[in-house]
Amino acid sequence: MSRNENEIRTLDPATVDKIAAGEVVERPASVVKELVENALDADAAEITVEIDAGGIERIRVADDGVGMSEEAVRKAVQQHTTSKLRSLSDLERGVSTLGFRGEALYTIGAVSRLAITTKPRGGETGTTLTLAGGEIEAVEPAGCPEGTAVEVTDLFYNTPARKKYLKRESTEFDHVNTIVTRYALANPGVRFALEHNGREVFSTTGQGDRQATILSIYGREVARGMVPIEEVAEGPLDGMSGYVSDPETTRASSTYISTYVNGRYVRTNTVRTAVVDAYGTQLAPSRYPFAVLDLDVPPESVDVNVHPRKMEVRFGEETAIREQIEETIEGTLLDHGLIRTSAPRG
Ligand code: ADP
Ligand code: MG
Repeated sequence: MSRNENEIRTLDPATVDKIAAGEVVERPASVVKELVENALDADAAEITVEIDAGGIERIRVADDGVGMSEEAVRKAVQQHTTSKLRSLSDLERGVSTLGFRGEALYTIGAVSRLAITTKPRGGETGTTLTLAGGEIEAVEPAGCPEGTAVEVTDLFYNTPARKKYLKRESTEFDHVNTIVTRYALANPGVRFALEHNGREVFSTTGQGDRQATILSIYGREVARGMVPIEEVAEGPLDGMSGYVSDPETTRASSTYISTYVNGRYVRTNTVRTAVVDAYGTQLAPSRYPFAVLDLDVPPESVDVNVHPRKMEVRFGEETAIREQIEETIEGTLLDHGLIRTSAPRG
């Protein structure tokens, strides 16, 4: 076998598909993210996430959203099918839905066994569609409530190389927990429940109260240590609200600083730095507070498409925004007597 190492070859479509699937679906948490986003886009008021063995064996996300007809669900599992975007001009005008690429169900289906049970709101009959490795196995009528339940079993059963990269059950569970927490905090008006191996991890009330949501997720100790932001310092942001913890209610990781820009979760060093600086020397080294922050950023001052999968953002007027966040949090901590004096500026 003397094959030219430098020869340029065209990959066969099945290989291309699997590579693409790997970018959307890296681990159970990425499946959960896509399914929860679909449920939110479907106007759900209640979303239940059940996982077994960290999601490696089974993931089920059920919602009471708009549901799908038989015809719609058959289409939904195909590639590039979406009800959310019609053309490029829709995209340029800005999309309000969390999804729009029309690839999640297709790619999840390609690397797992998938069963979707769904009934449209006001519809007469429900449908169950089952798929294995991307091939439709059956489409049958089903007695089910309005809404959609998507069940994913045996993730990566047909891509063993990827399956090998899954971590321990507890690590995969942590990732899922982080994702569900992120969406539950962002949507206090939606009732979320997370179950692992048949046990409830948390459930929120869905009453629209952020503080109650924090209590449901982080527990009484943490919720007691958190105070609301009431006054916002001057700066480029149109608004800012949320909760921050006292300097003693901390963890060794910055995961518990959750930032939402115009309603979307984002990862941003700018905000993390601003939060930490607001506490100044009153935060122990390598400790991070809890914070849930909603930033109302003028669209021209933020680029959320830096990397859609990583949810990173880039701010225009970055320094001014960082200072505004820092001053706002510092003011909040001072007002509540949680720090003694203004922290030295760094
Ligand atoms: P996208 O979310 O980018 O449109 P998906 O592959 O995630 O792509 O979903 C494809 C389509 O399937 C969606 O556009 C929507 O019409 C439908 N769909 C998926 N999940 C749900 C759900 N939970 N409830 C109702 N419709 C859904
Ligand atoms: Mg989607």
